[in-house]
Amino acid sequence: MPEFDFRAPRLFVDSALSVGTHVPLERNQSNYLGNVLRLGAGDAVLVFNGRDGEWRADIGGRKRPDVLTITAQTRPQDHLPDIVYAFAPLKHARLDYMVQKAVEMGAARLQPVLTRFTQVSRVNGERMRANVIEAAEQCGIIALAEVADPVPLERYLAQRNAARLLVFCDEASDVASPVQALQAAQAAASGIDVLIGPEGGFADEERALLLRQPNILRLSLGPRILRADTAAVAALALVQAALGDWRS
Ligand code: SAH
Repeated sequence: MPEFDFRAPRLFVDSALSVGTHVPLERNQSNYLGNVLRLGAGDAVLVFNGRDGEWRADIGGRKRPDVLTITAQTRPQDHLPDIVYAFAPLKHARLDYMVQKAVEMGAARLQPVLTRFTQVSRVNGERMRANVIEAAEQCGIIALAEVADPVPLERYLAQRNAARLLVFCDEASDVASPVQALQAAQAAASGIDVLIGPEGGFADEERALLLRQPNILRLSLGPRILRADTAAVAALALVQAALGDWRS
């Protein structure tokens, strides 16, 4: 397990962090520290901004927490493995869940991809970013995944760096060991894209287009159909274990 205390209360603050800095708290942050975590003046929390590592901060304020004083750095800034999680966005609560799980699994960038059977046409980027931060705060993650704007599948494929490994999770693929398939793939030096389709799966013409892509790895996630948010966790776990930072 990581050597740091991932249970300690953590708060994302969008401020530069250095010893002695005073960070005023927004109302929702004050409410979270005071009412949810029941912390007050004199207590300490860990804070991060996604750029300067993790710092210990003392809470100040009379009736309720209203300022943090940065006292010491506890962890240097780290970096996520270069894994892009490309996915057909789902509806509200399931999208919230999927974003939070992708962050916990270590994805560095979340790329919504609009496919023929995608159920939603608009994606709330601010809500996705809030879920990225919430998952990071809860799991001691101090590097923040980027949230990209949704793009149609064709544009995603045209714009991506073709040197990257594209792990195409295809529900129509024959069952073959995903572990062996991933280990056999050239651990792409220029990063990995993991693509998961919508609840309705990929359309035939999308599958044909995908299978023509350079550096494509058509991956089976076993003999049963997984729901898209389940497939997200399964696929990212396999990629992290075979090619990512779950290896020592
Ligand atoms: N069309 C099917 C499955 C869609 S599941 C249906 O409607 O029931 C949503 C996505 O999860 C798929 O597009 C695929 O990316 C992934 N997925 C689910 N089960 C999978 C499997 N057994 N192998 C590979 N990918 C899978």
